[in-house]
Amino acid sequence: MDEMTNRATVSQTYLRDRVRAWLAQGLLPAIDATAWAGPGTGQPCAVCRGVVEIGETEYEISCAGGHLFAHRDCYTIWHEESRSLPRASAGP
Ligand SMILES: [Zn+2]
Repeated sequence: MDEMTNRATVSQTYLRDRVRAWLAQGLLPAIDATAWAGPGTGQPCAVCRGVVEIGETEYEISCAGGHLFAHRDCYTIWHEESRSLPRASAGP
């Protein structure tokens, strides 16, 4: 029941718009399905640029360039927007 926690200073709508723009511009990779949730290790979030604090849940996303990290809420937006993207190329 921690969904109501409002940690971010920017709104979810703003983040979603930004994620959509970054995905369109190739500044963020589209998430396939590979992500690992674990305890926060102080990594910067790829979506909101904030730090995933110790004690928060950190999502680690594997991508072509290595690994990216995101808060749970940020990951949720990122994942949803990735799925709504038109596929640029055929799958495997
Ligand atoms: Zn974040």
